[in-house]
Amino acid sequence: MDDESNRVGLRGIVIDVTERKRAEDALRESEELYRTLVKTSPDAVTATDLEGRITEVSQRTLELYGFEHTDELLGKNSIDFITPEHRERAILNLQKTVSEGIVRNLEYNMLKNDGSRFIGELSASLIKDQHGNPKGFIATTRDITERKKLEEMRSNFINVAAHEIRTPVSAIKAHVDLLNIKRERGLLELPDEAHKTLGIITRNMTGLITLINNLLDFTRLEAGKVGVKMELSSIEFQASQAIKEILPLATKKDHQIDLHLPTGLPPMMMDEDLMKAILKNLLSNAIKYTPEGGSINVVIQEEGDCIHITVKDTGVGIPKEDLDKIFRPFHVVDISGSVLERSYIERTGLGLAITKEYVKMHDGSIWVESRIGEGSTFHVLFPIKAR
Ligand code: ADP
Repeated sequence: MDDESNRVGLRGIVIDVTERKRAEDALRESEELYRTLVKTSPDAVTATDLEGRITEVSQRTLELYGFEHTDELLGKNSIDFITPEHRERAILNLQKTVSEGIVRNLEYNMLKNDGSRFIGELSASLIKDQHGNPKGFIATTRDITERKKLEEMRSNFINVAAHEIRTPVSAIKAHVDLLNIKRERGLLELPDEAHKTLGIITRNMTGLITLINNLLDFTRLEAGKVGVKMELSSIEFQASQAIKEILPLATKKDHQIDLHLPTGLPPMMMDEDLMKAILKNLLSNAIKYTPEGGSINVVIQEEGDCIHITVKDTGVGIPKEDLDKIFRPFHVVDISGSVLERSYIERTGLGLAITKEYVKMHDGSIWVESRIGEGSTFHVLFPIKAR
């Protein structure tokens, strides 16, 4: 009996050791694979431990920071490559990577080996060991200094051009407004053709002014010149105001707008002007991209620590491949072939890009669900206590 149990025990140990060896081999292999991937990546990839000390780098990282050999970088703290004014934010973002697993497109002023500066765009993921415990980070860095310079030049150019255009356009608008007022009051008789032309000029003038204002808002945003004044305020009030201001547009197209609100929504931290701009933009898109006689539903709900707003329309919808792109500046969806193909719609492709930035300023997020021909639902989620 004793013999039997010994043997069984012995066999157990042999199995244990084999299993452990297999696990160790697998671990070593995956470690090697991971190191090879980092080393050979065409991007500037840096692996670090949890304190940010560098454990592996790719060739591109050496070039980016101006080093010759990997050894010169191993053991250095990656935070030291970020300029002092951005270090505190970088440490906070490292903590965020631990809690969220991944952070994307962070911008920092960074330092090269020779002390020169560049603007880096950094994305980082948390790496875990075989037990699922955080073990370090893997980050890719891009030098976006040139891109930033070009963006700044483009932004300045658009800003100056829009300002220059606004002055004469405002003067023309004032004259057109005057003609319209005189005609409405019966002080001006116009032949049919001139009346029609005045209508076309007025409509296009409004479109042009929207475009100029959007361009100016956009460049102000890009230049970081939009100030945010956060205060406790009622989302219910802002939504009602936004609907009230946009109602004439909806009435013109015979749309029905419904607002659904639970009673007792808590006040939330917001910039009132920006919040109203967010809501008005989503509403005006819903109106624009819905054929006459449609319905638009606005629902505001409290969800945990957040306020969730949805704006749903019965419009033309957005193709799947455009769902992300519509939040990029100047992206407009091809609506030829839709029922709106022949309608006059003011389009700049800037409204949602601006809206997205305003949402970000509230630490919120925005996304859309849509079906072609059935309609779209825009979602915005705001933390009640943002900042
Ligand atoms: P604009 O409406 O001035 O073109 P936006 O940035 O507001 O610019 O929107 C970008 C594009 O997204 C629009 O051109 C349109 O194609 C699409 N879009 C936005 N909202 C809707 C909507 N509610 N329904 C269908 N398409 C939409």
